[in-house]
Amino acid sequence: PMTAAALQVSELTVGYGPVQALEGVDLEVPEGAVVAVLGGNGAGKTTLMRAVSRTLGFHGGAIRGGSVTFGGRRLDRLPPDKVVAAGVVQVPEGRRVFARMTVADNLRAGGLGARGGRRSAAAALTRVHELFPVLRERAGQPAGLLSGGEQQMLALGRALMGGPRLLLLDEPSLGLAPLMAERIAEAVREINAQGTSVLLVEQNAALALGVAVAAVVLEVGRVTLSGTAAELKGSDEVRHRYLGVV
Ligand code: ATP
Repeated sequence: PMTAAALQVSELTVGYGPVQALEGVDLEVPEGAVVAVLGGNGAGKTTLMRAVSRTLGFHGGAIRGGSVTFGGRRLDRLPPDKVVAAGVVQVPEGRRVFARMTVADNLRAGGLGARGGRRSAAAALTRVHELFPVLRERAGQPAGLLSGGEQQMLALGRALMGGPRLLLLDEPSLGLAPLMAERIAEAVREINAQGTSVLLVEQNAALALGVAVAAVVLEVGRVTLSGTAAELKGSDEVRHRYLGVV
């Protein structure tokens, strides 16, 4: 490959007790790329994110085989806080913001523990406000009063405060109106253009393939298709099952 593989998932097998959720999954996110994971309900998309962020244990799951490396370093043996310290930050599905805390305090919480001290935290906040001006306008309001789309912006902004190298985005368009979903997609493009790699989990295949350079399709825990975004957009299987083309 031309570029160093930022994230490499190899032969990953994951279970929750007797439930086998992933089996032999291979996936690569080259440095600086956006790669999408497509698939229907229960395919294993969220499980894959949890395996990378090492939060699987909180949900009763465990890695049974394979490996996850980032920049050549094994992540699958690190605790979740060390994964974050390595620059890999997950934005969970359902945009869990701290509803009673102000928008400003939510963002501040995202910067806690980030390297670089106060000056880089101020620079990160400036970048987040440039990306999402509404978060500056609403800085003093409780996060719970924001609209769904604004809460997704806040969840993204909070993750950016730590200066991540790789963002794990779980269904960022879920429950959003098409226009707002497109604004979030645009923000993901911009975040990527500024140098952050992205692993994007989406049921909205059209949106994901508009942002990602490559994608894999998961079905019942296995990768059934993978390729560039252009290849997948041209695949009959993807067009029929995930893009709604008849
Ligand atoms: P969705 O979009 O519906 O969240 P998904 O593709 O993210 O789907 P997962 O949530 O990763 O799929 O689920 C993969 C499989 O693992 C499913 O069979 C699901 O029932 C099972 N599973 C997920 N979480 C748990 C859990 N905490 N305990 C037991 N089984 C689980």
